Amino acid sequence: MRCKSLLLLFLTVSFFGQAWSQKSGKGLRTLIIDPGHGGLDPGARGMITTEADISLDISLKLGDTLAKAFPDLKIIFTRTSDVLPGNSPNKDAALKYRANLANQSGGDLFVAIHCNSAGHRPGGWYEKRVVGKTAHTKTVKKGKKSYKKTYYTYEYENVYVENKAKGTETYVWAMNKNDDKINSVSKSNEYTGEIDSTSTLTLPDPSDPTEKARMLVYAQYYFRKSLNLANYVQDEFQESNRVDRGVKQRNDKGIWVLQATGMPSILIEIGFISNKEEEEYLVSNSGQKEIVTNIFNAIKKYKEKLEDKDKEKKGF
Ligand SMILES: [Zn+2]
Repeated sequence: MRCKSLLLLFLTVSFFGQAWSQKSGKGLRTLIIDPGHGGLDPGARGMITTEADISLDISLKLGDTLAKAFPDLKIIFTRTSDVLPGNSPNKDAALKYRANLANQSGGDLFVAIHCNSAGHRPGGWYEKRVVGKTAHTKTVKKGKKSYKKTYYTYEYENVYVENKAKGTETYVWAMNKNDDKINSVSKSNEYTGEIDSTSTLTLPDPSDPTEKARMLVYAQYYFRKSLNLANYVQDEFQESNRVDRGVKQRNDKGIWVLQATGMPSILIEIGFISNKEEEEYLVSNSGQKEIVTNIFNAIKKYKEKLEDKDKEKKGF
């Protein structure tokens, strides 16, 4: 039984490895752009728009810019309108559709675009806060005795709390959480958005040889590439003076799709839709142009580095 599992593991690694080697050496040819959410899943809500809408705008503009710069690059969108990809009946089915589409299209890179969200409400909220305290004394009688007791009355005020979280972060599927060389990767467990407790998706089970093999292939071929691109993206955002929340590794259902695609993959949180100022930036033409340029530059750098490596291999 053990032997059988090992054989299966070997065969699967060989299969995925072969699939990879056939694709390698050709640089970036097929890019999957995945605008998050859509249709009945609006994602996080802002004060004036939704995550699904902004993600779609940015994705389409990014696709246009890339198509103009690289006419040979095949670009596949998981959705181009406000629907769940593949007109799927629910969020989980849509996520599976996204991954299947990427894999069946023989993608070399998967880039998901999302917006972040934090706090109780977009923009801000009112909170009841104590702003004053007055001491009073009263005489309490107990039988024949009487004594003084102090009590307090409080003054409250409704205080507006601004939803301040802002900035950008890029996720990769976690592999080497304890790798100290990856110092740009946040080791904190704190994260925002993209957690859906109702999800029925399952994470890879390391005791299943096929899934273990898939993860090995990811670790061997795709993890480092994903991380490089994620770093380029964050560098670009930083250049534009956005708040840089860093490259983060996770392995939870919130970014399930990243491990389901057999290719390097990243998920970019382009800003906080829950922050009034940042939402205005995210919907503005100038803001969208800047974000698209940032991601475009990062993908361009990634593509060029891949091509340089291929040239080195061929002895140019
Ligand atoms: Zn999202």
